[in-house]
Amino acid sequence: MSSNNDKQLHIIFLPYMAPGHMMPMIEIARIFASQGGTRATIITTPANASRFQKTINRDNKPGHLITFLTVSLPTKEVGLPEGCENLVSAQTRETTFKLIRAIEMLQPKLETMLVESKPDCIVSDYLYPWTVDVAKGIGIPRLAFSGSCFFNQCICYSLEKYRPHDKIVSENEEFVVTDLPDNITITKSQLQDLVKGETSFNALFDRLKEAEKKSFGVLINSFYELERDYADYYRKVIGIKSWHIGPLSLFNRSLDDKLDRGDKSTVDAHNCLSWLDSKESNSVLYICFGSLTRFTKPQITEMASALQNSGCSFIWVLGKVMKCNDDESGSEQEAEEWWLPDGFEETALANGKGFIIKGWAPQVLILEHNAIGGFMTHCGWNSILEGVCAGVPLITWPVFAEQFYNEKLVTQVLKVGVPVGNMVWKAWATDESELVEKEKIEIAISKVMGGEEEAGNVRTKAKMLKELAYKAVEAEGSSNKDIKALLQEIKMHRQG
Ligand code: UDP
Repeated sequence: MSSNNDKQLHIIFLPYMAPGHMMPMIEIARIFASQGGTRATIITTPANASRFQKTINRDNKPGHLITFLTVSLPTKEVGLPEGCENLVSAQTRETTFKLIRAIEMLQPKLETMLVESKPDCIVSDYLYPWTVDVAKGIGIPRLAFSGSCFFNQCICYSLEKYRPHDKIVSENEEFVVTDLPDNITITKSQLQDLVKGETSFNALFDRLKEAEKKSFGVLINSFYELERDYADYYRKVIGIKSWHIGPLSLFNRSLDDKLDRGDKSTVDAHNCLSWLDSKESNSVLYICFGSLTRFTKPQITEMASALQNSGCSFIWVLGKVMKCNDDESGSEQEAEEWWLPDGFEETALANGKGFIIKGWAPQVLILEHNAIGGFMTHCGWNSILEGVCAGVPLITWPVFAEQFYNEKLVTQVLKVGVPVGNMVWKAWATDESELVEKEKIEIAISKVMGGEEEAGNVRTKAKMLKELAYKAVEAEGSSNKDIKALLQEIKMHRQG
């Protein structure tokens, strides 16, 4: 007779509709389902499900069960273009607000779906704080997932508790963040608005933090050896139960999984890889600013000149800039722009120096090619971890959200990157920001892509971290052990 402990666990996943949230959460679902004895249901909209369906179909071998449960987004009701179901397709502040509103409107439907699915556990994006009450109502654990790292959680806690910035007058003066395991310095200009004073987001963030505290625990896409002191601080000083279960992207072992990750690539990946094959090891800079960040035309021009002057080979992923104008009927007229200087792309291609990807790149696949010698990144947490897994040094160019905090982890604690020198945090990924001049960009490129003398140190450290990352996900690795321990705890909870 089978005991309750042998009964399959059913875990339901509710990812937020943005690539940096959704991709790692779907990887968690796939990892849990691969452990055997666990079934995963992912709730999302049809357009989002279709981005991942091929990968999920490949995973659904006997014994692994992952299904999508879809819900339609009220796009028409809020005036969104059809198919705009993810923040990656909402390229203006107005469209983003409409999408956020449409997602909020789903709450009653989602509540019913969660209850009717009768799961044993809910893994919820932290942006859905109300799932705490749903889980409580049905007597199951709620695990929160924000997609960020321990270091970020610790820095936010310290800034809120000790408010060191209140004593600082100048926006550009560096100060030390109080009581952290390392002497972390930052400027006021790099802090999020809501840290410095009341904004329209403070109440929401208070609610999110409250929900995190009331949760069964928090899942962190990181590994213990990467940020040991901060994992301990989060658990012991802040007192939040958590499991480190990353790097999640390492779960994609097959070429197909890496190719299809997150979205369909807009380039022929084989062309891109054979271009890389023609380059020497560590000689190509990969440049990508995540799924949401967009720069202005003057900033793109500065980057293009810096690349030309540096003489460095590069792959540059450019996000589509959508200019949306609401017309009288409320529907949007959209125009695509890339904003590259005239002739730049053609010259780069002709002299073999540059490969430009307009749209979605197979990032993990590119990063792990041995021709890649550096990664210029906006410091989204997924991108940083993917750079760590590839063992490449980083050029940090944070822009919004918690990216400046992530930068400090890279440059001041791990010491696997150099800052480009962006000083000013902005509220939205698509807002204009202060120009980073080409001279600064060139200096950062030469520090990371230069010879042994300039870049040897960061490169050696980056390679060491890569080894540790791979070890963490081996059978006896720290992350794998935490995943197993967590699933066991959920089973115990079910037995009550
Ligand atoms: N990504 C990708 N191709 C692209 C742009 C982004 O595969 O062209 C992936 C990237 O590998 C990462 C995620 O999208 O996993 C972006 O997440 P991150 O946290 O770095 O930044 P965000 O997009 O949330 O700002």
